[in-house]
Amino acid sequence: MTEQSSKKRISVKTPEEIEIMGTANRIVAGVLTMLKDEVVPGVTTYYLDKISEEYCRDHGATPAFKGYRGFPCSLCASVNEQVVHGIPSRKVRLKEGDIISVDFGSYYKGFYGDSAVTIPVGTVSAELERLLRVTETSLKKGIEQVAIGNRISDISKAVQTYAETNGFSVVRQFVGHGIGSELHEAPEIPNYVQKMPSPRLLAGMVLAIEPMVNMGTEKVKVLRDQWTVVTEDSKPSAHFEHTVAVTDNGPLILSTLD
Ligand code: MG
Ligand code: MG
Repeated sequence: MTEQSSKKRISVKTPEEIEIMGTANRIVAGVLTMLKDEVVPGVTTYYLDKISEEYCRDHGATPAFKGYRGFPCSLCASVNEQVVHGIPSRKVRLKEGDIISVDFGSYYKGFYGDSAVTIPVGTVSAELERLLRVTETSLKKGIEQVAIGNRISDISKAVQTYAETNGFSVVRQFVGHGIGSELHEAPEIPNYVQKMPSPRLLAGMVLAIEPMVNMGTEKVKVLRDQWTVVTEDSKPSAHFEHTVAVTDNGPLILSTLD
């Protein structure tokens, strides 16, 4: 999930807390890895939500999004022009050539995990493939900036520069976030450079970095369901997210099975 604003202090986690967050995030990585196999033409987003919640509970964690500010499901499932926070439904059946952004959060022993990927449904157009590749690489470029002494704005700049150089736009209205004993903590992690002072990174900070990259305009709007965020021009959008700890040795990606 993404955040619109928070202006609180940035928490620093102990190695033991980061260890627990590693487990929480590995469970999320397990869900997303499973979904890469389960996303095929004909499945409903309702089914994807069910199996994601089941996997999470079977591994001893609680789905973090279910009930969060009233969100009705465990998985955010956003198809094509939907950017983030799409609500799974029996009525949404995936078709060949679609893309679907799946975002999952877990809660385990007092800490949160949060990660997202955009998955092609069957074979997609070359331009969609490029959107997915560029968005995933922009996340990688952002993560490469996770180093003690760097600023949050170094992450923002790397993401924005890569996405825009490749002809796409980055969403402004929703941003990444710190994560820990709360799903959304300080600092905000925008995917674009803001003209204001930006916090320096310290060992023990844990960040959910999540570029949302649009094929057309950067502008987005929220549908009447109060959740689903779509592009204003109805062009497709992709979303990749990792939870990353700041360490003395650089970034430690927690939301991975490796
Ligand atoms: Mg998320
Ligand atoms: Mg998030």
